[in-house]
Amino acid sequence: MIFFDIDGTLIDHQSASVEASLIFYHRFRDLVAFPEATFPAIWEEILNKHFNRFCQGEISLWEQRRARIREVCGQEEMSEEEADARYEVFMRAYEARTQAFVDASPCIIKLPPGRLGIITNGAREQQIGKLRRAGLLEHFTVLVFSEDVGVGKPAARIFLEACRQAGEEPASCVHIGDNVQADVIPSRGLGMLGIHLDRGASQSIPSSVIRTLAELPEMLNSRQGCIVAAT
Ligand SMILES: [Mg+2]
Repeated sequence: MIFFDIDGTLIDHQSASVEASLIFYHRFRDLVAFPEATFPAIWEEILNKHFNRFCQGEISLWEQRRARIREVCGQEEMSEEEADARYEVFMRAYEARTQAFVDASPCIIKLPPGRLGIITNGAREQQIGKLRRAGLLEHFTVLVFSEDVGVGKPAARIFLEACRQAGEEPASCVHIGDNVQADVIPSRGLGMLGIHLDRGASQSIPSSVIRTLAELPEMLNSRQGCIVAAT
């Protein structure tokens, strides 16, 4: 089974998040506690902080969304209703802007049908929506979300659950992701072929690194011909 991460791997989360955070900023300019120039980076930092708590199973999906809004607005006492309403402004803008990377679909259609899966920490409905709008959803037969497992990557449990659902041992599975700590190191630790998609050439580790998904089918053919050939 060949598993993919979604954000930063198949779907361009970063571009959509920057644009949506600025839309949020302009809507709530007088309420936000940070200057516009640094807001996208601060938004992402605060997002990651609270999202990681969600991935650890510490707080719910909506609690981490409210925590983000309360922190960027500097209003710890904000009601759930108000936080949810403000979050919706970001979420609508974000979901309208998430697109697949141009190399995603050409790569996916070269890989064996019925042997592709997803391992993602993102919210189930949002992630399924991203794949559906990108025309990619139909290609994946196993989809594993952190909220269903109770913990997210890099925990071993979510990778093992994905392998279990695929009916395969980790050693016969591949995982492709853009994050060394969350995708590559833990999957390799379980014996999977962990491939680092290093789009920015920013955090290379020595082996199994690709710069674009266009390199993936050939790499799998050379590394594990059985995986690609076994259709
Ligand atoms: Mg990622």
